[in-house]
Amino acid sequence: MSRFLSDRFAALTPYVPGEQPRDQRYIKLNTNESPYPPAIGVLEAVSRAEVSRLNLYSDPTARELESAIAAFYGVNAEQVMATNGSDEALAFCFQAFCDQKTGACFPDITYGFYEVFARLYGVPAKVIPLDEQFRVTPALYRGAGGTIFLANPNAPTGIALPLAAVEEIARQNPNTLLVVDEAYVDFGGESAVPLIGRYDNVLVVMTCSKSRNLAGGRVGFVLGSADVIRDLRKIKYSFNPYNLNRLSLLAGAAALRDEAYFRACVNTIMETRAWAARALGERGFEVLDSRTNFVFAKPVRLGGKAYYEGLKAAGVLVRHFDAPRVRDFVRISIGTPEEMRALLDATDRLWEEKRA
Ligand code: PMP
Repeated sequence: MSRFLSDRFAALTPYVPGEQPRDQRYIKLNTNESPYPPAIGVLEAVSRAEVSRLNLYSDPTARELESAIAAFYGVNAEQVMATNGSDEALAFCFQAFCDQKTGACFPDITYGFYEVFARLYGVPAKVIPLDEQFRVTPALYRGAGGTIFLANPNAPTGIALPLAAVEEIARQNPNTLLVVDEAYVDFGGESAVPLIGRYDNVLVVMTCSKSRNLAGGRVGFVLGSADVIRDLRKIKYSFNPYNLNRLSLLAGAAALRDEAYFRACVNTIMETRAWAARALGERGFEVLDSRTNFVFAKPVRLGGKAYYEGLKAAGVLVRHFDAPRVRDFVRISIGTPEEMRALLDATDRLWEEKRA
């Protein structure tokens, strides 16, 4: 730490992204990326001609991308704002809708960035426990007294909350904003987008990083009432009006327009998830019911950390969280069928070594 860092950040612990190793070729099942390339329209849109226009600023209104998002979800363009990945959307929500008086609340086991943003922006956080089966209990959010951040489906558990329960939270807390982070919703969850016309306190955050195969493009977006979106634009224009670069704006729009490819990728990943989860179950793993592009699984013959390390030595990267309640588990992203078979083979070898 230099002597110049603001005292506000002296105790800040930043978010730790999953490993992105450059030294060795791993089978990478650790950061929930899609194993499939972006839609063909993305490759065509990010053309040499567009690269040659990088001397000019990007469109701060993100008009083409926001229209493509609005068309896909059947909402008005005023109900949409595009962001530089959904992490930026979440940061804007903390800036716009949380302060000393209106804190933030979220489950004890959820996306780690909520806690980091709360600290970064000096927002008091109320942490609400998941139940024994890692499920959200809607009644515990009643009058919780801060903007609610719910990842649905949740990460790293993969468990989805039914739409009726999300609606119950919105209905019971009419003067509290409910931010539903739907990074993984396309893999079998129920989206809260239909609620945004009926509840002005519901905001949905989405990303092109997972189901639209564009993690490196950094394209996220928010859907909500026109008023709430206007508030978010106020923050964006006070922070970084050109938040999306020219190439990502085009890539995101092209990805949203290719619904057939999006559905095909999502369906393939869900099919792979089904048999991979079964195969892990047959090997004695406890596998939580996933509605995401990953499974959260507890290896019974090795601890979570030892299994993670054993796989890494075998060239397969998964994610282990050394935190209470989840340290016995690992989070395994769903890759191609070949990658999942390699994971299972490496697992079988580890079990053999353990027995020997
Ligand atoms: N929300 C959740 C629940 C996530 O797991 C992630 C991925 N790390 C994000 C948001 C952020 O994704 P991105 O910034 O790539 O859109």
